[in-house]
Amino acid sequence: MRRVIYPGSFDPITNGHLDVINRAATLFDEVVVSVAFNEQKQGLFSVDERMALLREVSPKLPNIRIAQFEGLLMDFARRQEATAVVRGLRAVSDFEFEFQMALMNRKLEPQIETIFLMPAEKYTYLSSRIVKEIARLGGDVSAFVPVSVAAALREKFATPKG
Ligand code: ADP
Repeated sequence: MRRVIYPGSFDPITNGHLDVINRAATLFDEVVVSVAFNEQKQGLFSVDERMALLREVSPKLPNIRIAQFEGLLMDFARRQEATAVVRGLRAVSDFEFEFQMALMNRKLEPQIETIFLMPAEKYTYLSSRIVKEIARLGGDVSAFVPVSVAAALREKFATPKG
């Protein structure tokens, strides 16, 4: 059983994340999309909201599971009996941080590999951060996120009436 963990903030999930999930699902028996809970890093969406959106928009494949974790990724990966961790690489700018993380994680848990997948080119400029920024300023994000995520963003940034 080859199980891979796809960890991240997913605040919120974008079409770029979905691209990585789909690619990972063809390579592994199970993909555990795992929302990192981090008290220091308050997101726009709560972990529960992020999980709900992930459940709603993730491909309905039997080998995709949504989870959350707190603490060290490698501890979680070990408990899940994962073979590997997958991360998305968009551009050279992602590389340095990911390289450091991957090598540190290997020190912590030599049995679990980190693998990198590149999304389709059209997603290489996409990040949750930039999507939130566009939505906050009232821009149209429908090309970058699933319909229900766009709706959730509109709701978050809606100016209170009255
Ligand atoms: P982080 O928690 O590190 O800020 P995210 O939660 O946004 O990262 O994303 C989790 C993972 O998904 C990371 O490996 C990130 O590189 C990857 N990722 C994010 N957006 C994209 C995208 N548009 N295409 C491919 N991978 C992406």
